[in-house]
Amino acid sequence: MERTLVIIKPEAVAKKLVGKIISIYEDNRLEIIHAHRVLATKEVLEKHYEAHKGKDFFDGLVQFMSSSEVVVLILEGENVVDIVREINGATNPQKALPGTIRYMFGETIEANAVHGSESVEAAENEIAIWRDLIRFES
Ligand code: UDP
Repeated sequence: MERTLVIIKPEAVAKKLVGKIISIYEDNRLEIIHAHRVLATKEVLEKHYEAHKGKDFFDGLVQFMSSSEVVVLILEGENVVDIVREINGATNPQKALPGTIRYMFGETIEANAVHGSESVEAAENEIAIWRDLIRFES
């Protein structure tokens, strides 16, 4: 069964939006098979965002993502990668469609409330990167 990795980003956790965001996924009939709140390490974040290494926003993004705790979710289901990307909305909250999580809760292109893996392959890679930190054993 397909899986994806979601991160509820630091500003959304600080604003106590965790319950609302989880409800949106569940209301869309997605299954949360794991949830873990944690302060992300720079080591894990640098691996997670490796594709963006060298870009001007990389250092700031790693700094932001490790500034306070995140909630990492693993969701499972048919087509879950694409469905979550659609529910999350465009990277830039100003371009996100109404009804999406980033439209409702995103503040800036960096603090855009949630991360969702972009492909099945990326999801598998990200789950492996986060596995120890979030104590995901299955
Ligand atoms: N990001 C940023 N500035 C940019 C582009 C991206 O801070 O100009 C951050 C943003 O938090 C985004 C993350 O980098 O969620 C990963 O970027 P990507 O293009 O992979 O977007 P996503 O898959 O998260 O929509």
